[in-house]
Amino acid sequence: MSEVRVRFPPSPTGYLHIGSARTALYNWLFARKHGGKLILRIEDTDIERSTQASIDGILDGMKWLGIDWDEGPYYQSQFKDEHVAAANKLLEEGNAYKCFCTKEELDAKREAARVAKSDYGYDGTCRALTPDEVAEKENAGLPYVVRFKVPEGDGVASFEDSVYGKVEKPLRDLEDFVIVRSDGSPLYMLSNVVDDIRDRITHVIRGADGLGNTPRQTLLYHALGAKQPIFAHMPLTLDHQKAKISKRKHGEIVAVHFYKEHGFIPWALCNFLVLLGWSPGDDTEIFSREELIEAFSLERINRSNSIFNYKKDDPKFFTDPKALSINAHYLRTMDIEVIAEMAAEVLKGEGIWDEAYAGEKRQWYLDTVELIRTRFHTLTDFAGAGRAYFAEDYEVEERAIKKNIAKHPDLEKYLPQLADKLAELPDFEHDTVEEALRTFCEALGVKSGIVINGMRTCVTGRLAGPSMFEALGFLGQDRVVARLRGSGKLFS
Ligand code: GLU
Repeated sequence: MSEVRVRFPPSPTGYLHIGSARTALYNWLFARKHGGKLILRIEDTDIERSTQASIDGILDGMKWLGIDWDEGPYYQSQFKDEHVAAANKLLEEGNAYKCFCTKEELDAKREAARVAKSDYGYDGTCRALTPDEVAEKENAGLPYVVRFKVPEGDGVASFEDSVYGKVEKPLRDLEDFVIVRSDGSPLYMLSNVVDDIRDRITHVIRGADGLGNTPRQTLLYHALGAKQPIFAHMPLTLDHQKAKISKRKHGEIVAVHFYKEHGFIPWALCNFLVLLGWSPGDDTEIFSREELIEAFSLERINRSNSIFNYKKDDPKFFTDPKALSINAHYLRTMDIEVIAEMAAEVLKGEGIWDEAYAGEKRQWYLDTVELIRTRFHTLTDFAGAGRAYFAEDYEVEERAIKKNIAKHPDLEKYLPQLADKLAELPDFEHDTVEEALRTFCEALGVKSGIVINGMRTCVTGRLAGPSMFEALGFLGQDRVVARLRGSGKLFS
């Protein structure tokens, strides 16, 4: 294979969508696997809808995900002259023609086709104009579009898609499509091909929503004397009700920045995204970067649509549960220093970072992160579910109060009494604290489970968590005693 050259050509009309990120990822994996190049091209020819904020968001999102590119960003709008030159070449060589039909004329034909219940396609009126007729109309200043001349006959426009197999479209079903508007601006269909030819793209890996354009694009390649690239169309990603995932329907949950803000580890998101439409052939789900580059192939992209399993009404999970479980996996297993750094960013963002965690309390900080990370799904949990380890302003879960506090009103006097006992301890080691607690419970004749759960709720704010005695050691004597003394507010 000659050097692999793939491209990611987003249209900068919104934030980086997870579907686009998946496209970028597949192209990146393919380039890396084959030692090729990934070209980033911003398709900004829709001037009305393209924005700088969107371009910035796309670049930031790619950088955050770790999807690096080798060339670009190129901007499609800078190549307008080339696109027009290609259209002129097609005109000169008889592969395109000027069409002077007015909007009214075309509308009337379309309406007639509708009434006759037949499919509308441009009828080729201007294809038959003689050079003199064309010159006359041009001299009269009549506006025109440029149409591509679809070859006549029984042939087909076809290509071998790496995912969908042979795709064929009878030429008869293709109308002479417009490649340059009457204002002289080239159409996307043409620009996209001209750019891919110039950028020497060998593989076009894009969403199956592009499949409808591809037969016409193969005709353009041919007419421009260029070799057509290998196409691989990826299945669409739908929600659990089979609707296309979109901002309108699903909100920010489809944006890459949402995952950044909600404590995802960039590689975990990539790992989740790759599985939306590709499988390794067995049930492996977790891949390191190197493993995934090695395992990835176009042939293993699925044809069937992938499901982004997000149920808006399921309060338990805020996104696809698989995305969360993959993120949790990385959170649990990645190098502790790396996770500690990521957690530090979250704590800083919340204003609960203590510089001592980088200095004299470093070991305590690392051990605490290690202790609590096993139950977390996202990095933001360090400032949420794990907040009591780092700050005093932690919330106490409603369900914990219901279960562990409200049912045991006697705890209102027990917890402060326990605080006094714990304050007297010479050290706060696991066994010392456990012993003290058991003695305390026995003396009162109360089940230790009730006191332990009440204490957990009070000092960590959570219904569940690491072993209580271990957690107490991390929180330390002073904080535990103070929190138990202040437990009265839980009973109001
Ligand atoms: N700019 C197009 C899009 O964002 C790219 C289509 C293609 O890959 O050819 O949908």
